[in-house]
Amino acid sequence: MSELQVRKVVAAYDATPVVHGVSFTVASGTLCAVLGPSGSGKSTLLRVIAGLHRPLEGAIVASGRVLSGPRVDVPPQHRRIGLVPQDAALFPHLSVRANVGFGLPRRERAGERVDELLDLVGLQGLGDRMPGELSGGQRHRVALARALAPEPDVVLLDEPFSALDASLRGEVRAQVRHVLRRTRTTAVLVTHDQDEALSLADQVVVLAEGRLIQDGAPAELYERPRSPWL
Ligand code: ADP
Ligand code: MG
Repeated sequence: MSELQVRKVVAAYDATPVVHGVSFTVASGTLCAVLGPSGSGKSTLLRVIAGLHRPLEGAIVASGRVLSGPRVDVPPQHRRIGLVPQDAALFPHLSVRANVGFGLPRRERAGERVDELLDLVGLQGLGDRMPGELSGGQRHRVALARALAPEPDVVLLDEPFSALDASLRGEVRAQVRHVLRRTRTTAVLVTHDQDEALSLADQVVVLAEGRLIQDGAPAELYERPRSPWL
């Protein structure tokens, strides 16, 4: 079980709140899209879940473990949460294999685990390439493999497809969804693209100006949208 709970989270920069009491629950093994326009607080919320930004109020609970709370602030490396940043952010001077193995204990870095992960994301045989020798879609899949390597409870993806060409986007989306399903990873994907959210996710949380507007299955949002731009 790796259910993720976001409970009444308030987050601010220099005491100016930008996330105002947001709550939602992501069921174990499902994919939740957080959908909202630019500046609506999506990245801030992901950073709170990852432990990179301390909330003013509220709690983050994963697999029944409180990660952020009134007297709790588990550091990012101890949260069992993987983050795939917007720009993939691979280490340019490390091979694909070394990038994927980065989050693993030293003794596992040279073992089969890295090859298994490369297989999983469809990059078998490319372990010795450097990031500069990969396409944008391939770099994203390396970033996903790196995030999944330590078998996290939850994976967070920040606008993972926005830097890709439209022609690549559909294919990479389908691959990422397939990998998350196969590994039964609980995932939160942030996007401003409503087609992406509605087609990819099991659950969509709509944010506007740091407030939760709607939380439901894609079909529900499609039939009864509560925000004018949906
Ligand atoms: P989104 O990811 O939905 O575009 P963000 O979470 O990045 O939204 O930003 C939410 C709000 O917080 C915006 O008004 C943004 O200007 C502000 N903000 C984001 N990062 C910072 C920062 N480091 N310092 C101050 N304000 C910030
Ligand atoms: Mg953002």
